[in-house]
Formats: sequence, structure tokens, C-alpha cells
Amino acid sequence: MARTPRWHGRLAAMTLALLASACMTAAPPARVAGELVTVRADTEPEARDLARRADDAAAWIRSICPETRTTRPVIWRVERIEPFKGFRFAEETDGLHFQFLCIDRIYLAQYAEDGAETHELGHYLLSGDWRRLPPFLEEGLANWFHVHDPGVDGKLRGDLLSAIAALALGVDLLVELGPVHSPDLVQPRGRRGALGFTSKLPGLRRVSTSSKSALVFQPIAERLAAHAHGYVIAERVIRRSGLVGMLDLCHRARKEGRARVPLDWLYEAAGVGDENGLRHAVLTDLSPGAFEVVLGNVAGTLLDQLAEEHGLQRGSPEFARWLGEVDPLLTLPENGLAKRVLELDGISGYLAHEIE
Ligand SMILES: [Zn+2]
Repeated sequence: MARTPRWHGRLAAMTLALLASACMTAAPPARVAGELVTVRADTEPEARDLARRADDAAAWIRSICPETRTTRPVIWRVERIEPFKGFRFAEETDGLHFQFLCIDRIYLAQYAEDGAETHELGHYLLSGDWRRLPPFLEEGLANWFHVHDPGVDGKLRGDLLSAIAALALGVDLLVELGPVHSPDLVQPRGRRGALGFTSKLPGLRRVSTSSKSALVFQPIAERLAAHAHGYVIAERVIRRSGLVGMLDLCHRARKEGRARVPLDWLYEAAGVGDENGLRHAVLTDLSPGAFEVVLGNVAGTLLDQLAEEHGLQRGSPEFARWLGEVDPLLTLPENGLAKRVLELDGISGYLAHEIE
């Protein structure tokens, strides 16, 4: 869009509206000051519990990561991530580090899993030259902190695992459905034949150029692809040359007058030649057990999308009956592997969790 004076005026009005609505967002009433962070939440015990965990996470990140900022973050524990009135963030967002003019704050959703505070504190603490990481890699590094935080169980989120798997498998997965006997169930339209369904994640070239704000508002598939690519690269760069090695890339970018660390430097530091090399590396990095879990998560994600197409509620008895009827088969076209989805480890956990 051309930046005409009219557009500038509109931008200023939007900014003012945002600030005004920010003022209207009331702080949660309870306030607890920990050693390194301050937490606001609905109740004091909730604030105290989060302050303790966030203090541990912040101290740990500072102890392993060079050149982090030393200011004190304020975390707001909120019902959902909607820091501004009328400003809707994607529902799947667990937390958000928000930095805009005078507001520098971490929002954590009440439903956020343990470790989301580590992820958001990672964003907050990376300042100075760290800001030269491309946004998708900053997400990857925040995920790395989450996974390696000794205070968290160290598991990757299922949706992130799915994205990593899709990345590793050449981003082309197929779920085939068996014959469906129930006449009121309609087969998905416009897909490969009547029984096939594929899922594609955007490639790295696309997500690597996304801005920070774009990553927050993008559709979930693009956001996951960015998080997954970023995590895999961060894991490999840090394993090879540590957090210092990653920061060195940021210093080098500054010396060469670059706003962002280029993708090629990251591939080199990760020890992979290009995007295909990265995919291959992910496959060899994953243990067979982890791979099985990954497949289950992939299948879960694809089944969610299928259920949506059929107008079925995820977690409903109808959904469970439908799964039994269609008996989905997960096919990985690139290596000829086919597995019954209902036999996958990840899926049994998924179903037990979904159907209560
Ligand atoms: Zn993040």
C-alpha cells in the first residue's frame, strides 16, 4: 500500500486508538515481585507460583546466554491473549512478549502450558545484537530455551513436533480414509480423489522473511512452520557452536551493516547446505521413538482439519465414531511408509485426551 498522507493519518489514528484501548485494559489485581520478574495475576497464590517459576527461568537463561538484558520484566497472567480491546490474537497463542512504544510486557494466557513463561522470557531477554536474528529464528531460540529449561519437562509441544515432522518429510503428507459406511458423512471435496487429504507447510524461504508481527497474525500453519524451522536450526547451531556461536553471527551482521543474519549463514552454522540438507538432518536427528510420536502428532493435526471439513467437533463422540469408521491410513509418499493412524502412539494419547 502506498504511504500517502491519508494513510499516515489513518496510521496515526490507529496508533492512538491502540494506545487508548491499552489504557482501558485493566491490570490483573494481584501483584507479586519476585527476584527478577514482577507478576500480575487474578489471585496472589497464582501470581506467587508464576513468579517463582519465571524467576527460575529468567535466572537460568541469564546464566547460559551472553548479553541478555538486565531490566525487570512484568508478566501479566490473563484469561486470553488480548492485550488491547478489539485486538484479537490467534487463539492458539500461549503467550506474547509485546513491545510497542512505552509498553514492554509479557502476556501469558491462563491456559498456557508450563514453560510458556520460559519461551516468552527468552524473547524479552534477547536484546541488543540478538535482535538481528530473523524473527523465525528468534522463535526457534525461544523454543530452544523452553525445551532445555531444567525446570520444565523438556518436551516439545505436539503442534511444533507436527510441524518439524512435516518439515522433515518434505512437507507432503497424505491421510487416506477407508470406506465410510455412514451415509450422512460427506467425503472431503476438492482433495486428491475422494479419499485423500494432504497437508502442506510453507517452505523456509517464505517464513524466513516474515516480520515479527506477521508471525503473530499469520495462519497457524505458517506460524508453526516458522517455529519449527527456527527450532531445528537453533538446536543444530547451538549444538555445534553454543549460544556464543549464534551471538557471533549477530555481531558479524552488525559489523557488515545487515539488519538481519542472512539465511545462508544460518545454514552454514547449522552444518547443512540448504533447505533440503536441513530436512535430511531433521530425519537423522530424530530417534525412532520420537519419530513415531511425531507421526501421531502429524496425524492428529491432519485429522483436526478433516473433522473441520466434515463439520465434526474435535473431541466429540461423533468425532470418535467417525475416526473408527474411516480408519485413516497415514502415508508418507516420499518413503512409501504407511501406518494405520489409530495404531500410532501419538494418536492413542491424542484420543484419550480428546475424548473424556
Ligand atoms: Zn514466541
